[in-house]
Amino acid sequence: MSELKVLVKPFFLEFKRPFALSHGTRKGTNTVFIRLEYEGVYGYGEACLPPYLKYTVEQVVDYLNGLDLKKFDPLKGTLENLNLLSLVIDKCGPARAALSSALWDLESKRLQKNIKDLIGIIEDTPVKYCFTVSAGDADELEQVISEQQGFELLKVKVGSGSDLEFIDSVRRFSTKPVCVDVNQGWTNKLVALDSLKRMVEMNVLFVEQPFPVNMEGEMQWLKENSPISIYGDESIQGPEDVDKFANSFHGINIKFMKCGGIDKAVEMIKIARKMDMGVMVGSMSESSCGIMASSHIASMCQYADLDGPLLIKNDPFKGAVYRNGKLMPVDGAGIGAEPVEGLF
Ligand SMILES: [Mg+2]
Repeated sequence: MSELKVLVKPFFLEFKRPFALSHGTRKGTNTVFIRLEYEGVYGYGEACLPPYLKYTVEQVVDYLNGLDLKKFDPLKGTLENLNLLSLVIDKCGPARAALSSALWDLESKRLQKNIKDLIGIIEDTPVKYCFTVSAGDADELEQVISEQQGFELLKVKVGSGSDLEFIDSVRRFSTKPVCVDVNQGWTNKLVALDSLKRMVEMNVLFVEQPFPVNMEGEMQWLKENSPISIYGDESIQGPEDVDKFANSFHGINIKFMKCGGIDKAVEMIKIARKMDMGVMVGSMSESSCGIMASSHIASMCQYADLDGPLLIKNDPFKGAVYRNGKLMPVDGAGIGAEPVEGLF
């Protein structure tokens, strides 16, 4: 009798260059891969675990190894199987993202239908791809920027103190529009507003998550007064946060590791469109596995920050193809990523 099998594999993704954010510098990210197998067909998913998500590798490995595999019903779709296999996982964004990716991948390959057809298409929109630059690149800025010339915009990570100076130094090597990610690094609303006013001259399109999540009042004040659009990232975890924070942000940054996967992401896009908010699909410096799962919603977003595979040096998956600064959409069935030999 056919049965569903699972393999779980923790892995450390190493950055090509250290990643400097407002809350410290990192050399890489812990991640956990899952492989589901049914009748010789494989489905893959990734749970990427940057420190701020507060889930440990052990927790996620336990969740994924604790799936109730006997409950898998091959006649049912991914969303039903998600609930059948585990209710615990629903609360853990990265584990849910990994499991849902693996189930979509499996279902899509078994039915030979592409994932967008399985989830139900919502209207596409023109999307701009961005490439990430952080203070960790400061010494090699010219080279980092020149390596990735095709991208339409640069995402500049700041929040460590000399933000405007860093944007200025990026400006020396590129005139492209910039989005500035503060990663909750600011704490004073007047200083923040002053910085935003100065950024108008610097071709900054929008600023992401200026204040810590708990500074809701300041966030609303800044949105009312800012000359530049403000997007929420850490404040926006799942669908329930989109209209809750509509007074704080002009747009949202959706990440599968926060919301739990493609179905939740599509729900968030629908709410954001209703509220007239902009949408970016972001990522957590994931491998090609997580990035390709997220790539299926890129065409429904205004901005896509899906450059993880370009930032890491030991990507254990293949499938992400960048051409002229754009991540190529998946042609055919599956999430669009396969492991390198020997990973599982
Ligand atoms: Mg961000």
